[in-house]
Amino acid sequence: MNFGYYMPTRVICGRDCVVKEGERLAALGTHALIVTGKSSAQNGALKDVLRALANNGQGATVFDRVMPNPTLACVREGVALLAGAGADFIVAVGGGSPMDAAKAIATLAVQPRADEAIFAGGYEAAALPMAHVPTTAGTGSEVTPYAILTNDFQRTKTSITSPAMFPRIAFLDGKYMKNLPTMSAVNTAMDAFSHAAEGMLSRNATPMSDLLAKESLSILYPLLPKAMGQTTDEERDLLLYASMLAGMTIAQSGTTAVHGMGYCLTYFHGVDHGRANGLLLGETLRLCSEKKVPALGAILSACGDTLEGVCATLEMLLGERERYPAEELLRFAHTSAANKNIKKSAYEPTEAELLRIFTASCG
Ligand code: NAP
Ligand code: ZN
Repeated sequence: MNFGYYMPTRVICGRDCVVKEGERLAALGTHALIVTGKSSAQNGALKDVLRALANNGQGATVFDRVMPNPTLACVREGVALLAGAGADFIVAVGGGSPMDAAKAIATLAVQPRADEAIFAGGYEAAALPMAHVPTTAGTGSEVTPYAILTNDFQRTKTSITSPAMFPRIAFLDGKYMKNLPTMSAVNTAMDAFSHAAEGMLSRNATPMSDLLAKESLSILYPLLPKAMGQTTDEERDLLLYASMLAGMTIAQSGTTAVHGMGYCLTYFHGVDHGRANGLLLGETLRLCSEKKVPALGAILSACGDTLEGVCATLEMLLGERERYPAEELLRFAHTSAANKNIKKSAYEPTEAELLRIFTASCG
């Protein structure tokens, strides 16, 4: 029973909470940079945030140019806009990409660094205050201290972190996901599922992170097939809640081998983040079973299914798998062997085992 637990984000969950509880934004500053993509103007989230800020008499500048898998150039553009507008806090609206870009902007605005030094770590616990409004149920970024950015220096995706990257407030309202395309709903649900499972398979898992992960899995697993069709309001609320629990899990434990490998598929082939994890998760769980990783039993029992049952569910969600040449998978196995997430796995796969996972998953 040796563990710490730190979760400084205030979570506000409920229908119309951005407007109803918008007064909570007043304490964050006088002028907000809203960091978002294009979809928030269609799903109602941007309108609600602008209304809440206006109700408080706060100014707002919209930066809506964040693309999936944010780059340093995108973050730099956000920092420049923030400085030009005199913004003193950030509201992130969207999926993991705008939320992560917002965290990097909030940090670099007060801790400037050259591009070459951005992934070197060692950030102080200082960032502009942030509120996050997730519009996908996948990353849990609204309750984690990580920003995952495209790293062209090492040709992968890399996280930067500091305790100040935890948003001050997360507003959770499933209504924004009503018109989320089915493919995004499926991919993001697989991401959340992977966070909960990988969190339990981490060397850094704690009793608190396991508690959150088990609850997340028990809600998420039965909902996974439903993500493939039209979900109800209640199911979308539950998916968002379970994704947040999985985010709280990895805020303590970090992600492990699946994410460490998945970044190769995203960087080199543009495979969606959640799908990349879904592709690799089944074979990783099989390896954990062979190596008798104790957490696997608890994961399956939270899902209420067998190992092969979970693999079959993932298969159904994935449909036809991507296939890559053997020599490329050799390179991916070699690159991922050095990844810091892999080293956090309770059972740390060897390079040969990573190759086996890549080959079985997309060979
Ligand atoms: P995303 O890249 O944020 O968004 C994917 C797509 O969904 C975009 O085209 C987006 O459109 C659209 N979209 C978002 N919300 C929508 C809605 N409500 N209705 C309709 N379309 C919507 O995808 P994501 O899976 O949420 O985030 C993935 C990123 O998060 C990756 O970069 C990953 O590395 C990162 N991540 C971070 C953490 C963390 O702890 N920080 C954890 C896991 C993953 P627009 O772009 O036009 O808005
Ligand atoms: Zn993820």
